[in-house]
Amino acid sequence: MNTELISSRVGKLTPYTPGEQPQHRNYIKLNTNENPYPPAPAVIAGCAAYPAEDLRLYPDPASTELREKIAHWYGRSPEEVFVGNGSDEVLSFAFYGFFDPAHGPVLFPEHTYSFYPVYCSYYGLESRRIALTPDFSVDFRPYLEKKEYAGTALPNPNAPTGIAISRKEIRDFLEKSRGDRVMILDEAYVDFGAESCSSLVDRYPNLLVVHTFSKSRSLAGIRIGFALGDPGLIRTLETVKDSFNSYPLDRLSQRLAVLALEDREYFEASLERIVSTRESTAREMRRLGWQVLPSGANFLFARLPGTDGEKLYAFLKNEGILVRHFKQEGISDFLRISIGTEEEMGVFLEKIRNTGGEL
Ligand code: PMP
Repeated sequence: MNTELISSRVGKLTPYTPGEQPQHRNYIKLNTNENPYPPAPAVIAGCAAYPAEDLRLYPDPASTELREKIAHWYGRSPEEVFVGNGSDEVLSFAFYGFFDPAHGPVLFPEHTYSFYPVYCSYYGLESRRIALTPDFSVDFRPYLEKKEYAGTALPNPNAPTGIAISRKEIRDFLEKSRGDRVMILDEAYVDFGAESCSSLVDRYPNLLVVHTFSKSRSLAGIRIGFALGDPGLIRTLETVKDSFNSYPLDRLSQRLAVLALEDREYFEASLERIVSTRESTAREMRRLGWQVLPSGANFLFARLPGTDGEKLYAFLKNEGILVRHFKQEGISDFLRISIGTEEEMGVFLEKIRNTGGEL
């Protein structure tokens, strides 16, 4: 193909590699941190009853009803809420809107969500990875030593480690760091056992808290993410969005997301089940000799000392269980294992009890 046909910008991109979404074999799928339980019953009923004839009309470009519902859930106002097509889109808009290439690098942990460096290359931003402690925790001191930077991005709990950061530590960082640089706090997994900082957004106008419906609300398939922040930050995200796509959220998705927010009981019950399965799985893995990092998320990050991570991954795949393995130095021995149903985790545990001779 004639390379003249392609913009030189594309050559500089290293795209994100999503976890496998197998279309043919029926795996126990523990590789992309989806929720093993279905969406709330009201969502399923709402989907079946949806007036499909309305799909001829464009959706509400401002997602007004959904933003009102999210605001209500978090005790905020709709002016403090932005919604997007998955939190990946919200994060991408935030990197574009708040991180200025002239201000220096974007800071994020050495091991973190691997989309962050991709957004940096997409928007011509430098990045600086900050080392984790030997036990894989986030240490804010090296961040505070940096004086010139474009902003920070941090998942809480961190991914792929699953380790939660306390609200107090984040507050301390916000108190001591530059108020003229945005901190993107990616709370994709926060509902599974970390403290949300959504209540801090009026105190810190440089804090943007990003959430998703993909994990705790079992809605990865409809692509809804949102951000909570100062109205000034939210207006900036709206400007970025309206310069890209007026209608990133379709009518059906907006409707189903509204319904998901109406059933708090179901939400809390499915979280409880996942947390309880996570804890019993971690206990049993440790008993079997695995090192399992403490998790506040819906996944475990773990290794079997003395065993190659890639081989373990291949062994499990061959046995019909998909997990995630990262080739990155420092974590290549580890596997990230999403928490499935109790039954699925039982099968997983049975397989790892029998790994020995085959590896
Ligand atoms: N942040 C983190 C830390 C994630 O692991 C993911 C899931 N890959 C996302 C954001 C994006 O989730 P979604 O686009 O489905 O909202």
